[in-house]
Amino acid sequence: MSEASQRKRLEEARQRIEELEEALDQAARATCEDRYHMVFENAPGGMAIITEGGRILLSNAEAKRFLGLSGEGDEHNAEDFYVDVEDRNRLLAMIRENRHIRNFPVLMHRADGTSMWASLSARSIDYGGEPANLISFTDITEHRRALRRLELDEIRFERLYALSEMTQHSEKEILDFALEAITEVTGSEIGYIYRISDDQTELILHAWSESVMTQCDIENVPNVYQVCETGLWGEPIRKGKPVITNDYANLDGKKGCPEGHIPVRNHLGVPVFDESRVVFLAGVGNKPEDYTEDDVRHMELIMNGTWRIIQRRRSREELAAAHAELEEKVRRRTNRLQQVNRELAGLNLKLMTKDQEREQARMELLRYQRIIETNPDLISLIDSEYRYVIVNESYTHIFGLKREAIVGQPVGILFGSEAFEEQFRPAIDRALGGETLTEATWLPLPDAGKRYMSITYQPVRVQGDGHDYVSFEARDMTDLKRSEEDLKAIAERLDLATDAAHLGIWEWDLRTDDLLWDHKMFDLYKAEPRPSKELFDFWRSCVHPDDLAATEQKLARSIETKEPLYLEFRIVRSDGATRHIRLEGLVQVDDKGMPTRLIGISMDVTEQRKMEDELRTLASTDPLTGASNRRQFMSRLSEEFERCKRYNTSLVLLSLDIDHFKRINDTFGHPAGDDVLKELVALCKSTLRTTDLFGRVGGEEFQAALTQTRIGAGENTAERLRRRVARCEVKTHGQVITFTISIGVTALAPDDKSIEGLLKRADDALYQAKRNGRNRVMVL
Ligand code: GH3
Ligand code: MG
Ligand code: MG
Repeated sequence: MSEASQRKRLEEARQRIEELEEALDQAARATCEDRYHMVFENAPGGMAIITEGGRILLSNAEAKRFLGLSGEGDEHNAEDFYVDVEDRNRLLAMIRENRHIRNFPVLMHRADGTSMWASLSARSIDYGGEPANLISFTDITEHRRALRRLELDEIRFERLYALSEMTQHSEKEILDFALEAITEVTGSEIGYIYRISDDQTELILHAWSESVMTQCDIENVPNVYQVCETGLWGEPIRKGKPVITNDYANLDGKKGCPEGHIPVRNHLGVPVFDESRVVFLAGVGNKPEDYTEDDVRHMELIMNGTWRIIQRRRSREELAAAHAELEEKVRRRTNRLQQVNRELAGLNLKLMTKDQEREQARMELLRYQRIIETNPDLISLIDSEYRYVIVNESYTHIFGLKREAIVGQPVGILFGSEAFEEQFRPAIDRALGGETLTEATWLPLPDAGKRYMSITYQPVRVQGDGHDYVSFEARDMTDLKRSEEDLKAIAERLDLATDAAHLGIWEWDLRTDDLLWDHKMFDLYKAEPRPSKELFDFWRSCVHPDDLAATEQKLARSIETKEPLYLEFRIVRSDGATRHIRLEGLVQVDDKGMPTRLIGISMDVTEQRKMEDELRTLASTDPLTGASNRRQFMSRLSEEFERCKRYNTSLVLLSLDIDHFKRINDTFGHPAGDDVLKELVALCKSTLRTTDLFGRVGGEEFQAALTQTRIGAGENTAERLRRRVARCEVKTHGQVITFTISIGVTALAPDDKSIEGLLKRADDALYQAKRNGRNRVMVL
């Protein structure tokens, strides 16, 4: 065999093998497709291949059953199967994004109009070159229903529980809640509750559920219906039991809904009983599925519960109202009782007061009787015939007659006809004329001589009697009259005394601050009388400003200590004169020892003070020269000495004496000598400082103490003085006299224990000056 033929055969064999392999491949593929098809067809879940436009290319048996397809389903658009358009769009978008979809729960329409739940998975595939979606799904309708039932059970439980907790809510709130609850637990779209009138003839709308309100568009909804006029929805009342209407569209004898009412697919009406009486009609409608006995039971549960809560509420409210009413009744009764008690107490009080008043009146009468009887005054009742009708005991004592001997007798019998005619008759006549009068007069009484009597005549008209009487009351005022006269005399004497002593009397009421002055006080202050309220301030304004504080202080202290008051102060009178006033006072206290008043006297002691001042001056000065006398100078020198010792200051003492004074006297006469002495004093005073001390310590001997001065300065002063004296000419009695003086000077030494040493040194120095020829100054 040639190579070529061999190659040809080989080629043929290879071709044959390829053909066989091809055939084998095809056979295998066909088997595989069959298998796939078988699996696809018999898969327990539904499967379908759908174009992106929604055309169904392929669907298995379960898919056809589930969707209710008769053929392949290519006459349907898959997108129509979705109940919820939003669900569908979401799914398609996910597929387009190449995302695998797993177990997506979706509600699907079946071809016969019913709907079923599917759990859907999907992915995009290449279907023979064409892009398509592979959809697989399982029927979860039963599962969803079971879930929904569970959910509803939960809701029911929740609503029932919530309802049981609503005891504090209003009836309207409870019914609103119940309405939403029955709508929800039955899975209904709409619901309503009507109340049934007690006579069972009327339905009164409580409310429609929220969903009805939003979906219905009925105007002027009647709120009240007659039971007999209602359509099928009133049937539960008429039948007295729940009525389910699942196929409302095909129901016979229905009246139909008002215009604008949402279409009703199915309906469940449940009557709520209170024993045999229907109290509510609750209704629900448009549940996606048919209403069952379960729905009836659930509605009854909620509505009966609602009724029980409402009943409980009502009875609680009634109880509370009854309780409140009872309380109100009790309160009113208690109030009334209290009122009555108060009135009773008031009456009792009145009665008691009346009794007391009566008793008081009785006692008063007795008292009056006793007073009249025991009264030392002469008390009687005289009639219009001037006869005694009643007389008190004083008459029997004073006139020594028995009462019977006086009563019925004319007034003149006791006092004599003269006194009667002159005094009593005119007065009694005036009293009978309605006048009340009092007269004071001297009357002769047996055994007592003439007594000064104050007699009061008063008209008395006794009611029912018609007669007029005069009450006669005579009081012996003799002692009073006498003491009054005595007092007057005393007051006059006092007036005389105070006048003579220039004493003013004052009285200061500490409680009212009223100040009383007698006329002499005003004289002292040269002031016009003023009201007592203003007087204290006026007094203060008169007191010299420098004395006011101390004066007021002493006043206050005296009030505080209750000790007698002695004060002296100056006043500035309105005429500008300053006067010295001496004031003495006593503090008066009340029962508790509290000061109530100050009373006292004031006197003008200005003259006295002047005299004292003059006396004081006389006692301390030399009458001839007016210089301090020896006593005054020594006492002031002692004080100065102490001061210098205490403060360690310097002091210079000058002792000076006129030279040959005897000769001056002898030559010019004693009066001329006096003038020399006066001139010397004048010269000394004008040479010395005012703070220096100067005095005449002997006939023609003088001393000067120069304060805060050292010995040198002291010597200079002495020298200056000596020279001035020597230059001086005294012109007296037609003559001119010149004279000289000698001066001894000494300073206070640290070891000076008293002024004696100092005085001695000055005298020694003076002595030396004399000895050394006079008219000179010597320092020691
Ligand atoms: P000597 O210089 O020594 O002091 O001499 P004298 O004359 O001053 O002596 P003496 O001091 O003893 O004299 C004092 C005289 O001063 C005696 C007395 O008559 C006179 N005399 C005393 N007091 C007064 C008086 O009041 N008036 C007058 N005119 N003479 C008086
Ligand atoms: Mg002399
Ligand atoms: Mg002398």
